[in-house]
Amino acid sequence: MSVKSKIRVRIAPSPTGFVHVGNVYGALFNYAFARKNNGTFILRIDDTDQKRHVEGAEEVLYSGFEWLGIRWDEGPDKGGQYGPYKPSEKIDKYQKIAHDLVNQGLAYEEDGAIKLKSPKKDFSWNDAIRGEITFPETEVKDFVILKSDGFPVYHFNSVVDDIEMEITHVIRGEEHISNTPRQIALFEALKASPPVFAHFPTLRNSEHKKLSKRRDPVDLRLYREAGYLPEALVNFLCLLGWSHPEEKEIFSINEFIDKFSLERVRKAGPIFDSKKLDWINGMYIRQLTDDEFIRHLKTHLSSDTNDEFLGKITPLIKERINKLADAEDLLKFFWEKPQVEKPLFENEQSTLHIASALETLRKVPGWSLEEINSSLKKAIEEKGFKTGDFYMTMRLVLAGKKVTPPINESMEILGKEETLSRLETAERVMTFSPR
Ligand code: GLU
Repeated sequence: MSVKSKIRVRIAPSPTGFVHVGNVYGALFNYAFARKNNGTFILRIDDTDQKRHVEGAEEVLYSGFEWLGIRWDEGPDKGGQYGPYKPSEKIDKYQKIAHDLVNQGLAYEEDGAIKLKSPKKDFSWNDAIRGEITFPETEVKDFVILKSDGFPVYHFNSVVDDIEMEITHVIRGEEHISNTPRQIALFEALKASPPVFAHFPTLRNSEHKKLSKRRDPVDLRLYREAGYLPEALVNFLCLLGWSHPEEKEIFSINEFIDKFSLERVRKAGPIFDSKKLDWINGMYIRQLTDDEFIRHLKTHLSSDTNDEFLGKITPLIKERINKLADAEDLLKFFWEKPQVEKPLFENEQSTLHIASALETLRKVPGWSLEEINSSLKKAIEEKGFKTGDFYMTMRLVLAGKKVTPPINESMEILGKEETLSRLETAERVMTFSPR
């Protein structure tokens, strides 16, 4: 096997200061393709645009991908034989190569910049995702490769590095299709055979428009903060871009790698459907053990809650939430008394519900769930209440809202004293304040 036949792929994100979900999506294809074929996956940070330099951007990239569990084999942080992995560290190299092209008559200087001469021919390639693509001769005019400030343009450093790093497959978004003819022209000028190109479709929002950082939540950190599990987000992104041969929707990254092929990459613009993401995330949350769930939950709660409490509430909410950040809203009433006001209670029997609950629960000898359940059930039957209405009143009294964890279980956790105290507060509110 020749050296060149070992598969080598790269992602080349710009250091923009955030990881775009589209970067993750593209990274997954490259990562899976490399792993599946025993190849090498490389991170190159496309940092030649000095004007757009953002402080700390590299760390954001590293921590984002680390959270996702996506690791590269070579990169600025890992090193490797083909470094440096930041073009800004080899500017002199690009300059030398550009001048070599001038000396060979393939490029020329103009106003201090260096331009590649148009090869004046059609360009076509067999795209591994889209098949044959051809651009007419007019597409590639003479173009700048080295700016007058001595910095390479993206096309140039990208092609030089793809050659030097022995990249075999360039797998990237469809927005780069129109760049490909100029890059092929550069590969040919540099007497290198172009890699295989594979252009996957760009992610779109629910209005079928390309995800944009102004319009859409594209920053990876937002997903982490909202309590998406990295495995779920990865599963979702894989599913957007690729179809599982058995049409499965829930699968691990290892299964993705195992079954991956460029042929199965979807060709139509995938829609970033956040409802689907929530559903997938919910599936992953339910697969967590209680201990894992608690560990994740802790990082998403404002209150310093103890493990005993978390252990009790876990069975009440693990089945109910799709994002860890939703837990705060659902649980806040445990450590924060709710605002209870009269207009909250729409049912005209609310006052009776409260009075009866108070009377009954005061008499309960202990405070087991069993006792709470049976005594309230009896009260409801005796008074002829509608069960649903009665418990809605209890939710409003204890939590101040209609959606809560199972309410008798919540009473048990709140404790007898606190439950009675909230019922008493509600009774006062219903009796004395104007409607
Ligand atoms: N910096 C470019 C991007 O993030 C790299 C494109 C490429 O893969 O060639 O889109």
